[in-house]
Amino acid sequence: MAGISLSLDLGRLKQQAKKEDEEVIERELIIIGAGPAGLTAGLYAARAQLSPLILVGQAFGGQAATTDEMENYPGFPEGIGGMALAEQMSNHATRFGAEIAYEEVVDVDLSVYPFRLKTYGPTYVAKALIICTGASPRKLGVPGEDKYIGRGVSFCATCDGYFYRGKTVVVVGGGDSAIDEALYLTRFVDHLIVVHRRDQLRATPILQKRAFANEKIAFAWNSVVEEILGDSTVTGVRVRNVVTGETQTIACDGVFTYVGLIPNTKLFQGKLELDENGYIVTDKRQRTSIPGVYSAGDVQDPWFRQVVIAAGAGAAAAIEAERFLAEKAFEEQEKAQASPHGSA
Ligand code: NAP
Repeated sequence: MAGISLSLDLGRLKQQAKKEDEEVIERELIIIGAGPAGLTAGLYAARAQLSPLILVGQAFGGQAATTDEMENYPGFPEGIGGMALAEQMSNHATRFGAEIAYEEVVDVDLSVYPFRLKTYGPTYVAKALIICTGASPRKLGVPGEDKYIGRGVSFCATCDGYFYRGKTVVVVGGGDSAIDEALYLTRFVDHLIVVHRRDQLRATPILQKRAFANEKIAFAWNSVVEEILGDSTVTGVRVRNVVTGETQTIACDGVFTYVGLIPNTKLFQGKLELDENGYIVTDKRQRTSIPGVYSAGDVQDPWFRQVVIAAGAGAAAAIEAERFLAEKAFEEQEKAQASPHGSA
């Protein structure tokens, strides 16, 4: 018995010591995520003198930064690289006083106020929060996919395209991402086959036109990938025609998958209202189900997913957060004045 109580005491002491060691950093406003939404929120909040802190997880620049050439961001008629745009946005925000910290948030407590964010480093405490955690590529979920990630399976043509010079690759999907990235990959590869589950692309007409005109690109219509095949690296994909039921193997050296995105909201499950697909629910003013918590960008936008729209929503969220903080400060001031011990 004595042994047990000793170990319990030790456990308690350890926990207490951990709490005392815990570095706690307090901020008015914290922005989680440094894609176009988070960086623009940072710019607007910095210009509102809120000294915002932008916490970057693993993906500075978000999905946009993985895009080679962005042709539809206003003000850049010749196009701009996704990473270059993210860097410009970041420089713009920090120039006005936003701070960027490379800390991954691993837990949030939105049931307390100010809100608490746990990272592998310090714990952050914030009076207002803007969530811009974006979305990640959806996987196919077929045999071989996980096994060959980094050995022929990729979700990022900009990152990995260079390794496929003179080779043959398969691109899965028929949306803007698939066709945009397929066109980019034709700079390197000799042959590229777009495997799409329907007989029509979803991508915007200008991208479709370019893809159909590109001699390196072929299409496997009405087809789904059933398995990714390989030895030490990818050697092919087994596809099934959903109309005829026939299966065939397409020999290839790489598979690039673009079948949509899933919102990065794991941290907020059960803590904020999410829709049936896991996106954060916001109103027109970027407000979430908790006052003082805002959200912007792909994590709350299943419809548009455009950089310019994410940036606009980030600006809106920062404007709202600034109003919320000003009202809070005013309320606190009034409370202090009403209290008998308030300042005379
Ligand atoms: P998306 O528009 O949702 O397209 C996903 C594609 O994958 C669709 O063609 C879909 O087929 C297919 N797909 C979905 N699940 C599948 C599965 N399990 N197996 C096989 N195929 C599957 O996604 P996205 O292309 O990533 O684009 C996301 C958003 O970003 C869009 O709003 C897009 O406009 C935007 N975006 C814009 C640009 C640009 O403006 N240049 C570039 C990239 C992305 P179905 O067509 O049959 O549904």
